[in-house]
Amino acid sequence: MTIAVVPGSFDPITAGHIDIIKRAAEIYDEVVVGIVVNPNKRCLFSLDARVDMVKEAIGWTDKIRVDAFDGLLVEFVRMHDARVIIRGLRAVSDFEHEFQMAQLNRRLDPEVETIFVMASPEYAYLSSSIVKEIARYGGNINGLVPPNVEKLLRDALA
Ligand code: ADP
Repeated sequence: MTIAVVPGSFDPITAGHIDIIKRAAEIYDEVVVGIVVNPNKRCLFSLDARVDMVKEAIGWTDKIRVDAFDGLLVEFVRMHDARVIIRGLRAVSDFEHEFQMAQLNRRLDPEVETIFVMASPEYAYLSSSIVKEIARYGGNINGLVPPNVEKLLRDALA
C-alpha cells in the first residue's frame, strides 16, 4: 500500500490543485492532502478555513484525506506512513525552488521520495495568487476554483 502526500498552502485550493490531487489518487492507494501552516506566507484564509474548503472541494472519498501540519514535511509524511511527496510543476520557474526542496527533504529523510507531476495544460497558468488577484478586481473565476471556494473568495474579498 503506497500512500502519497500532496502538500501545499492551498490559499485557496484551485482547479489546478484538484487536478494534481485526483491524478495522484489514480496512481497511489491513498493520498493525504497536507495543508501547511507557513509562517513565511501571509494567507488570506485561516488554516481551519483552508482545511474545510479543501475537504468540501474534494468531496468524500476513502482514498483522499485532508490534514494540516506545522513543522517538517518529511515528519508529516512519516506520520501518515507515506513515502512519497507529490508536487506539481507548472513552468521552468517552479523548478528551481522545487528542486531545492526535494534535495533538502531527501537529505532529511532519504527514504522519502519527491515525485513531480506536470500541470495539465489547461491549468498551467493557474495559481492561488492569480485567482485572488482576479477575484479582488471582480473578475470571473468560474471554473478556476471549485464552487464552494468561489463563494468563500467573494465573501473574503467583499
Ligand atoms: P506552496 O506554497 O507549497 O507552493 P501551493 O498551494 O501554492 O503551495 O501549491 C501546492 C502544490 O500544488 C505545489 O506543488 C504547486 O506546484 C502545485 N500547483 C499549484 N497550482 C497548480 C496548477 N495550476 N497545476 C498544477 N500544480 C499546481
